[in-house]
Amino acid sequence: MPIRQLSETVINQIAAGEVIERPASVVKELVENALDAGASHIEIATSGGGLTLIRVTDDGSGIPENELPLAIGRHCTSKLSDDIHDIRSLGFRGEALPSIGSVGRLTLRSRPPGASEGAEIRVDGGKIAGPRPAAANRGTLVEVRDLFFATPARLKFMKGERAEASAISDVVKRIAIAFPAVRFTLSGPDRTTLDLPATGDGANGQKARIAQVLGFDFPENALSIEAMREGVSLTGQVSIPSYTRANALQQYAYVNGRPVRDKLIAGAIRGAFADVLPRDRHAVTALFLALDPATVDVNVHPAKADVRFRDPGLIRGLIIGSIREVLAASGIRPATTGAAAMMSAFRPGPTSYGHAGPANGHRSFHAGFRAAAPAGFDLSHSPSRPLEPVSAERAFGEAVQAAFDTGPLASADARAGATAVAPELLSMPLGAARAQVHQNYIVAQTEDSLVIVDQHAAHERLVYEALKQALASRPVPSQMLLLPEIVDLPEDDAERLAMHSETLKRFGLGVERFGPGAVAVRETPSMLGETDVQALVRDLADEIAEHDTTDTLKERLDAIAATMACHGSVRSGRQLKADEMNALLRQMEATPGSGTCNHGRPTYIELKLADIERLFGRR
Ligand code: ADP
Ligand code: MG
Repeated sequence: MPIRQLSETVINQIAAGEVIERPASVVKELVENALDAGASHIEIATSGGGLTLIRVTDDGSGIPENELPLAIGRHCTSKLSDDIHDIRSLGFRGEALPSIGSVGRLTLRSRPPGASEGAEIRVDGGKIAGPRPAAANRGTLVEVRDLFFATPARLKFMKGERAEASAISDVVKRIAIAFPAVRFTLSGPDRTTLDLPATGDGANGQKARIAQVLGFDFPENALSIEAMREGVSLTGQVSIPSYTRANALQQYAYVNGRPVRDKLIAGAIRGAFADVLPRDRHAVTALFLALDPATVDVNVHPAKADVRFRDPGLIRGLIIGSIREVLAASGIRPATTGAAAMMSAFRPGPTSYGHAGPANGHRSFHAGFRAAAPAGFDLSHSPSRPLEPVSAERAFGEAVQAAFDTGPLASADARAGATAVAPELLSMPLGAARAQVHQNYIVAQTEDSLVIVDQHAAHERLVYEALKQALASRPVPSQMLLLPEIVDLPEDDAERLAMHSETLKRFGLGVERFGPGAVAVRETPSMLGETDVQALVRDLADEIAEHDTTDTLKERLDAIAATMACHGSVRSGRQLKADEMNALLRQMEATPGSGTCNHGRPTYIELKLADIERLFGRR
């Protein structure tokens, strides 16, 4: 076949292959156009998951009749002069409208504010009709019917109406967070309706919009970020570690107001939370990066969701550093949802507040009650109760273990309740231990609340923190085994453990090769106490294999510490005496991050006395 120029329609269909992947991409492009046109209200209606119909109406600057043919022309844009390095609009490639018109049936109807009447132009699978006069409100209406009718191969890849409709709703939410001064509505037969009234510009408007989209319990369980480094600013909110999701879909990130799904940002968020969350849980975030447009390239992919930073290290460091900082400063603080769920579960009457078990997600709590729920501790805000920092020696972990080894165990469950409590203990954040119940829960009392601690989760966290702290100073003390324990393993696991024996030694674990397919363990970290060495070593081998290639040394060490902590923890079922329990509470208070276990579950719940009294109708 001789070389020839492709037709305009085929060229546009090729471009559409990248820009218009699914109905949600059409919605994204059209909403971005409306925002670029300065709209204050954007209405979106869809049916058939957007495959039958997408209609986006705005009250923006509109398009004059004589420019309509240009608007649907390839590489025609009003947004870019001749400098690709200074992009301040969402669009700039002049590709969306011609691409959409080449694969679906597009109608563009518009009336600029000054014009007395409107006009419309149609593009039907590439065939242009118009422009001609048409009755139109001020602003622009774009309608897309029968998307992909002209490219049946693409149509086959659609996931079904419901999935496409929910992708559309996600796109709208994602964009809406960045434009709190604009009202967004989503309606139509697709039953994914949204109405997000404008909340206004500025920090408060921004926060209110985030709450509209992420749920009103998010701000209660979020920490604010405000950081600046070398001209790059990072603001927004991240969830506390006990408020997480099973996937990363609720991580919203913006670069100069543009919603992005960027690997570097996602990786930095994961890194920042690596210490406090298990691998399968994800923080909820809304983060806004603002930087000189010349130092970031948004022209990486036609859909513009990827960006490239001139200084990726700076961005990564800024995100990780500032998230870790607020996490550390927030100290121990469990999600309000834990206590709220518990309180509403206690409520008399089977259905008055709906079902509100924690497994139900975060949105299920009765709004009125949530407001009354205790806010948990925020040590950074209670200067009247300064916490003694734990000395290096005590934090060293032997104290952690020692707390569980004071004298023989008695049999009564609730021994601590029998004696009077020291008043100074009552004024501590986690109060005075009063009893241990069901052999795993410590019930403590403060001046104005009841605290319930999951001793297993709490101890796991303390050991983990102690291991990490020990790493920073000197090796972890170990105890020699009377007889070395031989662990049989696949050869490459044995090899990997041997390769890391230096690191493991710093954690107090002495491992050496013992012929092919085996290692010998001669010493274990004292703070773990009696451990199942076989299980520990196998878990460590898995952990090292998983982290070896990808993670930094620090991430690897943290993973090893977490695995060890899990093995050394006081399992539920261990009975504790009053001073053992109080020692645990004091160590929790002194340990940053001890409000959640390594897996992000809360280690304690606090019920305010006022709320308990309310339950009993005393208030
Ligand atoms: P781009 O957004 O990259 O410029 P598009 O193909 O999406 O390319 O749009 C082409 C042009 O049509 C835009 O530059 C703009 O001038 C005009 N346009 C599109 N949608 C609207 C709208 N909703 N309101 C006003 N003008 C619009
Ligand atoms: Mg555009």
